[in-house]
Amino acid sequence: MNAQEYIHPEQLLSVLFQSPNATAVYRGADIEIVSANQAMLSFWGKDISIIGMSFKDALPALLGQPFLDILKKIWTSGETYLAKDYPAVIEKGGVVKTFYFDFEYKAVLDQNGKTAFILHTAFEVSERMDARMLVKEKSNSEARLSKDLAALNEEYLATNDQLVSINDKLQTANSELLQFKDKMQELNKTLYESENRFRSLIEHSPVAMASLKGENFQVDVVNDAVLEIWGKDRSVLGLPLHLALPELEDQPFMGILEEVYATGKSFYGQELKASLIVEGERKDRYLNFVYQPIPGTDGNTGTILIVATDVTDQVYSREKVKEINTRLQIALDAGNLGSTEVHLASGKMQSTDQFKRNYGFSAEEDFAYSDLFEAIFPEYRDKVKSLVQEAIKNNGVYKTEYPVKWRDGSLHWIQAHGRPRYDENGNADRMVGMTADITDKKLFEQRKDDFLSIASHELKTPITSLKASLQLLDRMKNKPFSEMHVKLIEQSGKSVEKMVVLVDELLNVRRLSEDQLKLEKTKFNLHNMLSMSCNHIRMEGEHQLILEGDENLEIYADEHRIDQVIINFVNNAVKYAPQSKKIHIKTESSENYVRVSVQDFGEGIDEKILPNLFDRYFRVDHSGKAYTGLGLGLYICSEIIRRHDGQIGAESKIGEGSTFWFTIPV
Ligand code: ADP
Repeated sequence: MNAQEYIHPEQLLSVLFQSPNATAVYRGADIEIVSANQAMLSFWGKDISIIGMSFKDALPALLGQPFLDILKKIWTSGETYLAKDYPAVIEKGGVVKTFYFDFEYKAVLDQNGKTAFILHTAFEVSERMDARMLVKEKSNSEARLSKDLAALNEEYLATNDQLVSINDKLQTANSELLQFKDKMQELNKTLYESENRFRSLIEHSPVAMASLKGENFQVDVVNDAVLEIWGKDRSVLGLPLHLALPELEDQPFMGILEEVYATGKSFYGQELKASLIVEGERKDRYLNFVYQPIPGTDGNTGTILIVATDVTDQVYSREKVKEINTRLQIALDAGNLGSTEVHLASGKMQSTDQFKRNYGFSAEEDFAYSDLFEAIFPEYRDKVKSLVQEAIKNNGVYKTEYPVKWRDGSLHWIQAHGRPRYDENGNADRMVGMTADITDKKLFEQRKDDFLSIASHELKTPITSLKASLQLLDRMKNKPFSEMHVKLIEQSGKSVEKMVVLVDELLNVRRLSEDQLKLEKTKFNLHNMLSMSCNHIRMEGEHQLILEGDENLEIYADEHRIDQVIINFVNNAVKYAPQSKKIHIKTESSENYVRVSVQDFGEGIDEKILPNLFDRYFRVDHSGKAYTGLGLGLYICSEIIRRHDGQIGAESKIGEGSTFWFTIPV
């Protein structure tokens, strides 16, 4: 071994110990800490007591770290180990912390080339490391930050893009909104205008109009004409209809409105009667109207428009015309009046059924002007023609009566009225005529005429004989009273009696026709009355009056008038059935009436004329035999019984006698 080369560790250490660098010296395979300067001890956080101890024992905190192994390796290999920025976890003052070192393990060899000791120099670089770490960390965090920033930026950009697009959209939406707003304003304006037009249309309409809103039919718009019909003022505006016009409650209108509202179908009313309160009084009005539904925005009925016309006057005047027509028809029917319109050029006639019947035609048959003239008795035709011509010339009325002969040969009397009708040029082109069958009237008149001549004749007979008797008496007035005087006086009395009877009958008829026949009703025994009646017949002794029936029967009637009826029946029996010696007078009673009949056994009466016997002036022609009489007796009887609310009749057959009867209600 070269002494020169060999450095004594103490020498070395003393040098090294002075060094500000941390220095330690180790020896042996166990790495005994031979020496360590203050700087190294400070690093380790140890004091001088560790000198001489093995690395392992002295620095247990470093055991888990690679230092011991590296040292052992160096010891064996004799190499040098250099480390930079090497971390070491060291406990200092109770705090475990990582420190960083640049260090060197340098094997110092002996003469044999074997490791004599290991020189450990260390330089703490923790600050540098911290700074570097700080820088690194900073740059890391910067990188992170910039990454974050980049991401953020990206996000921002993306968001920005979104924002831009949202903004675009917003702008579009906004401009659409503006357009929409404009449109809305325009629409609103149009709506307002059309609403105004609608209102103004209703308010200025000459016909009655109103609009009802919603399901309560709120009175929305009205005009004066509708208020006039309703009999209300503008205070009804805004009210539901059932409050505006409460009187409609039991009338059909509310129901119709509800139907229109529900179905959306309009309703047309024709001459419907509305009963409305006008100035406190109920008034009936007839209305033609329409309920027109107007759909709202949702398509359902929103409003109902009412348009109405008051047709009350028309309805009333039509009813009046109808009434007049009905009356006219009644009059026409009652008088068997027929009417016709003749077209003068063609001779065509438009006739009522009765008109045709008056000429013996049926309602179904055609009847022309020529048929009419054909029916008229030939001797009357020229007169009728000239009357018609005259009426046309003078624009007057013609009135005439003529007999016609029906196709069955029967004779009828026609009363005819006619008036010409003119066309626009003033030429008579039509004739309007009316006819009545006056056959009955004519016959009646005939009978009346006959009656007058009979009446005068009947009166003349007793007057003549009375006159003759009086003349004779006058001549005999200075002669002594004789048989002749008595006879003439009796004869005069009889003539006067006859005249009294005739005049009585005439007076009775007059009273009856003037309705002056007054009844004086009493309760009396019918049997007693009948046994006293017709004593003149009994006294004459020509006929036997046989009384049959309940002797106790009582009736309530005018005794004198009932007696008059009996006398008439018995007198007729004596007069028209002189050969019938027995005359039966019979009384029968039932629950409701008493029946009295007078039966003779004379020649009887033709059944066909039985219903006419009680007509005024009716007399039967007794072929050659002359019976005095006015044809009034039975007519007077029938009137007396009619006034007692009873019935009268006759039963007879030719050759079997007659029964005349009447009933009186009990
Ligand atoms: P008159 O004044 O002609 O008797 P009446 O009215 O009493 O009028 O009678 C009407 C007609 O009825 C008479 O003309 C007669 O022909 C007929 N008549 C009435 N009673 C009888 C009778 N018992 N038998 C037959 N004919 C009678």
